[in-house]
Amino acid sequence: MEYVKNVVCPFCGTLCDDIICKVEDNEIVGTINACRIGHSKFVHAEGAVRYTKPLIRKNGEFVEVSYDEAIDKAAKILAESKRPLMYGWSCTECEAQAVGMELAEEAGAVIDNTASVCHGPSVLALQDVGYPICTFGEVKNRADVVVYWGCNPMHAHPRHMSRNVFARGFFRERGRSDRTLIVVDPRKTDTAKLADIHLQLDFDRDYELVDAMRTYLLGNEILYDEVAGVPREQIEEAVEALKKAQFGILFFGMGITHSRGKHRNIDTAIMLVQDLNDYAKWTLIPMRGHYNVTGFNQVCTWESGYPFCVDFSGGEPRYNPGETGANDLLQNKEADAMMVIASDPGAHFPQRALERMAEIPVIAIEPHRTPTTELADIIIPPAIVGMEAEGTAYRMEGVPIRMKKVVDSDLLSDREILERLLEKVKEYRASK
Ligand code: SF4
Repeated sequence: MEYVKNVVCPFCGTLCDDIICKVEDNEIVGTINACRIGHSKFVHAEGAVRYTKPLIRKNGEFVEVSYDEAIDKAAKILAESKRPLMYGWSCTECEAQAVGMELAEEAGAVIDNTASVCHGPSVLALQDVGYPICTFGEVKNRADVVVYWGCNPMHAHPRHMSRNVFARGFFRERGRSDRTLIVVDPRKTDTAKLADIHLQLDFDRDYELVDAMRTYLLGNEILYDEVAGVPREQIEEAVEALKKAQFGILFFGMGITHSRGKHRNIDTAIMLVQDLNDYAKWTLIPMRGHYNVTGFNQVCTWESGYPFCVDFSGGEPRYNPGETGANDLLQNKEADAMMVIASDPGAHFPQRALERMAEIPVIAIEPHRTPTTELADIIIPPAIVGMEAEGTAYRMEGVPIRMKKVVDSDLLSDREILERLLEKVKEYRASK
């Protein structure tokens, strides 16, 4: 048994880089340090379908084909489509994402990642009002007040709290005992059970609660005895705790990006953090989901000037979330072909989007059997980044970390598949 150290976990935005993989006969058979979700990604589950050959649907049945045939057919679909959509990207590495940008430009496609169903509202908000963030190291070493608003890291980012809250830091030698933990969530989650203060607000009323907090912070009276189901005294007490911080951090998640108000919830939360800096040092970090969702928005911004929902149909990049997002294009029945990479919209998009996916050609660059591959016409399986292929990923607060290749695979990487696809699309377009 070989122990491979300092491996980076290819699952959530916490991007833990202290994983040890146990390797036997070129197979990862166990892990040390990974949480239960990270471990289950590294270790093959008995019975799970892992594709080893590309597949094309012929007469309703999947038939095994070569990479050349599958890529040729996929390129033809992209080159002939009038409104292709290229979606996913958050579970692959930055170099593959960069080839994807080139491919989108060549195909005149719309390119979009999972941000549009996740922290896209946070992107819209920060474009309006700003982005006062810091890195994990600053949280660990300095933060004495930690807020989790609308997120449940105990379930979704399982080692986030042990790395940022329980950890002993340079100025926080006693770890958890040196920090006040505040959780804002309508439910008594496993994260909320660990909090010093749990603001158990009414669902969908976060905007009003932040507004009341800012009202009180700016020296005005809160007009109601309770706001969003939280008594005035408790709101005032929470704001006093925020004001007394030496270094405060607000982590926030889907509880406010998906609920009523969406990006407006985030922009008022950002302004609360900015206002707090008149009294104390405050920063925020969005709890980005997939391990490299942040990387796509970085690459897409460097390459096109915009972070997601980028439309290359007119040659120049154009950006208009609400019109050029994956769900907009599917639900408005605009997209006439879809390429999915490193994502599973078949499982995670709403019914109306799936209805469109069932009507148009779908290409899935995907290693496992998923609801998306059930809807696909072409399945191209890649080597898995962080296990069988290397590349760069960005942690939730923008720290880049190199993903490792732990074992060998006969399969092409996402990057190699996309490079071949790009060449073929160029050939088809040149011959038009
Ligand atoms: S917390 Fe996230 S990155 Fe860390 S081991 Fe678990 S799934 Fe992987």
